Amino acid sequence: MHVLVIGAGPAGARCAERAAEAGFAVTLCGSEPALPYDRVALGRVLSGEAEVPALITHGAARLRALGITFRPSTRIATLDAGAGRAVSARGEVVAFDRAVIATGSDAVRLPFPGANLPGVYLYRSMADVLAMRRAVVTGTRVAVIGGGLLGLEAAAALSQRGARVTVVHAVGWPMERQLDPAAGALLARQLGATRRLSFAMPAKTEAIEGETQVRALRLADGTRISCEMVVMAVGVLPSVGLARAAGLDVGRGIVVDDAMRTSAAKVLAIGECAEHRGTVCGLVAPALAMAETAAATLRGEAAIYAPRPDPTALKVSGIDVWSAGEIEPADAEAITLSDAAIGRYRRLWLRGGRLVGAVLYGDTADAPFYLSLMAQGRDIAPMRALLPFGPAFQDAA
Ligand SMILES: Cc1cc2nc3c(=O)[nH]c(=O)nc-3n(C[C@H](O)[C@H](O)[C@H](O)COP(=O)(O)OP(=O)(O)OC[C@H]3O[C@@H](n4cnc5c(N)ncnc54)[C@H](O)[C@@H]3O)c2cc1C
Repeated sequence: MHVLVIGAGPAGARCAERAAEAGFAVTLCGSEPALPYDRVALGRVLSGEAEVPALITHGAARLRALGITFRPSTRIATLDAGAGRAVSARGEVVAFDRAVIATGSDAVRLPFPGANLPGVYLYRSMADVLAMRRAVVTGTRVAVIGGGLLGLEAAAALSQRGARVTVVHAVGWPMERQLDPAAGALLARQLGATRRLSFAMPAKTEAIEGETQVRALRLADGTRISCEMVVMAVGVLPSVGLARAAGLDVGRGIVVDDAMRTSAAKVLAIGECAEHRGTVCGLVAPALAMAETAAATLRGEAAIYAPRPDPTALKVSGIDVWSAGEIEPADAEAITLSDAAIGRYRRLWLRGGRLVGAVLYGDTADAPFYLSLMAQGRDIAPMRALLPFGPAFQDAA
């Protein structure tokens, strides 16, 4: 059986590896020129802490040993699911018995005036990161649009290279999807003090100014932030164009069942391009879990992908912040432990006697404890009084 995997990101590479191990003939087509690499670690290349080879997850020798035919710089342009035939943008035809779509997401470029000027960068691929690295020197003024996980990570990495960075964020505190306002305020303060980041919050970008090159960011209140570089980190959209044109069921992502099967018999979909039970994932752990499920489905096993609560940690060294589950849900009770003097903060949300969300700031060592309570849906009534102090205090309860 010949399996074609479309997209050589973490999910595609993992699925190709498992399919090859199972003895299938595997072709892995990726539109990027690079060998499969660890996208999660791109910030280390941006900051200069690592170079490209350190991020490669599937080197040429490993792909050869697995018997995988790897085609870099090969974007699949059309898919005939019924006939089992894909055609690349260069016109090469690849026949398949099964195809696995793993096309991931595309970073969003908001259509501000000036959004396509030289000096405006996205933060998604190795090529984006290498282009930013070439452009930034000590003293370069950078405006990062978006104070979410990726925007903060890019801002800290560029600051590490000597840039002067302002984060422009539409909400009043950073990472609002993962943090409540108090934890967000602690984070902004610490990033300012330790990473020299400035924040404009809440602030709406209206335009990027410049003629042949970025010169400034203009905010809705008229403020101008002078800069030579803009990084747009404002979210991603599942890459579903190929699947939609092939006639597959597509909602926000390519609709898949528990076994990662799409609406087309020969085609599976995994990772950030897939929509499972109405949800599209945005983290690498579920993307890899889907890849494992798809490989099992290819092997003919009855496999079920079971989503887990997605924990989030900011990868800026020296900053310990973690969250999982629902953040500030309107219908939940909250327990807060706060000691501003030592920069330690915890907030837990409970519904019906169960932990449904948690934010840890300053000390995240107990994260696995709270994650397991959430995953198990355990009744926390017997431990409620000491719950914010973590597992070490549970025996005393
Ligand atoms: C800078 C950065 C930091 C991150 N940090 C974290 C983190 O700390 N923790 C975490 O859990 N997640 C993190 N993520 C998210 C994580 O990288 C993604 O969840 C993960 O990469 C998803 O894997 P994927 O294989 O589904 O998609 P992708 O990684 O997007 O890979 C899809 C691949 O398919 C290719 N492709 C698209 N269309 C085609 C086509 N038609 N033909 C051929 N190839 C195609 C794309 O070029 C891409 O190479 C981060 C992401 C970025 C950008």
